[in-house]
Amino acid sequence: MLISERLRNIKPSGVRRIFDLARQMKDPINLSIGEPDFDIPEPLKEEGIDWIRKGFNKYTPTQGIPELREKIASHLKKKGVHFEEVMVTAGVTGGLLLASLALINPGDEVIIPDPFFVMYEYQVLLMGGIPVFVDTYPDFRLREEEIVKKLSKKTKAIIINSPNNPTGTIYPKEDLTKVVRIARERELLILSDDIYDNFVFDGPTCPCTGQLYEKTLTFGGFSKGWAMTGWRVGYVAGPREILQQMITLQQYTFSSVNSFAQKAAIKALDFNVDSYIQGYKRKRDLIYEGLKEKFHVQEPKGAFYIFPEVPGGDGEAFVEKAIKNNLFIVPGSVFSKRNTHARISFAASKETLLRGIEVLNRIS
Ligand code: PLP
Repeated sequence: MLISERLRNIKPSGVRRIFDLARQMKDPINLSIGEPDFDIPEPLKEEGIDWIRKGFNKYTPTQGIPELREKIASHLKKKGVHFEEVMVTAGVTGGLLLASLALINPGDEVIIPDPFFVMYEYQVLLMGGIPVFVDTYPDFRLREEEIVKKLSKKTKAIIINSPNNPTGTIYPKEDLTKVVRIARERELLILSDDIYDNFVFDGPTCPCTGQLYEKTLTFGGFSKGWAMTGWRVGYVAGPREILQQMITLQQYTFSSVNSFAQKAAIKALDFNVDSYIQGYKRKRDLIYEGLKEKFHVQEPKGAFYIFPEVPGGDGEAFVEKAIKNNLFIVPGSVFSKRNTHARISFAASKETLLRGIEVLNRIS
């Protein structure tokens, strides 16, 4: 066999047909995109370019440059997040991979609230672990009894993503407290993906597990909040024992992280993005108001996605219909064991959103 055993459970997306159809679209109304529709703010771009010109182009320390690690540490302390060590990673993606490598043995079970960001399922599978999904429909709340039902002797960790991709949910502190209680009783780890933590619409901040539980690995990054998706920089903070292993693993995998992007990231943490977030709140209002009459839909509280139930209850069929009407959205089955919803990204211009809303209402 040419291909490793490890990849036995890694399959290309089951909705390939839809992505094939989407590829043939000429000039689609594209509400499928998972990154901000603004560019990196100009001063941060300048900062990156400046450091390139200054010759800051070599390998950096494996765990990240000290100035950035200190900056992230003080940012997390201000938020009240528990941690002992911080490392810089190649985006949250890189951090998740290192954490999975460091923590998951074959046969270990990882609890993942459903709907979920696709990467979690596959990173667990890649390690030979078993993703165990906990359904959170219809309101996307975390229910203690549902989680408890799914625990076993093999449960190792729980993954929490808030604000959530694909639902836009921010789990209230009450829900996180319940999850922490479960984790504390059984000495489970919590992996908290906080990548959307500055896309919060109805309050200044959102609660996160790292504030409530010491055995949390907090993942954060610069891809969404500062639109630095292509610069690949993120971080992980948490218990020293785990972080030290992850740093060793980074040495043998990624080696180190993009040099100039780390310098720009320092500046990013002081760069206020409130005006961008206000713009996204207006987009959220536009799409929620535009859909709520005809769709069963929760109002997103953060991130830049809305996740309505589709009329007829077949997400993939609905998305095919949308594509035939020149609108590209993603079936909920990409993010869920259910195929009843669709993910619509509102990281798009007002004009594109209005065109998308028109199509959605027309075909529903
Ligand atoms: N986590 C979530 C929930 C995401 O939605 C994404 C990107 O879509 C990522 C992580 C990846 O982030 P990064 O660009 O930092 O690797």
